Amino acid sequence: MIEILTTGGTIDKVYFDAKSSFQVGDSPIAELLKEANLTIVVKVTEVLRKDSLEMTDDDRAQIFQAVAASRSQQLVITHGTDTMVQTGCALQGITEKTVVLTGAMQPARFRATDALFNVAAALTAAQTLPPGIYIAMNGQIFDPRTTRKNVAENRFEAADQ
Ligand code: GLU
Repeated sequence: MIEILTTGGTIDKVYFDAKSSFQVGDSPIAELLKEANLTIVVKVTEVLRKDSLEMTDDDRAQIFQAVAASRSQQLVITHGTDTMVQTGCALQGITEKTVVLTGAMQPARFRATDALFNVAAALTAAQTLPPGIYIAMNGQIFDPRTTRKNVAENRFEAADQ
């Protein structure tokens, strides 16, 4: 069984017309995966519902606890991209599980979204990589300790680039 922990971020955002703004809502991931004809068992658990810019150290401790307490050895965490690297670094104490963080630059509810591609990459990575903490974004697997989000280019890259 692979556990997906949802924490918020753009991947979970919904548009509220009355407020004319995007806010983090119910995660659509479980619904999206229903259409993917998966033959693996995936459990989706909501941990947080936050834009990652608003995450605190306590929130990261909560994510750490959720990973540590999970019965699964393979986890995917959906997360806002702005501070995904920070959370990946905060999870370094987890050594026995394969944990893959992912997110999306466009909400999963949009037609032109990178959400499903990224979650699929993360699910595959969680099943094939040795224990450790990884980021699956832009078709690549990164080590959070040596990665940054290039905000201007809207993608992740090795920190020394
Ligand atoms: N501020 C958002 C977040 O980090 C950025 C967009 C995203 O999720 O990609 O939650």
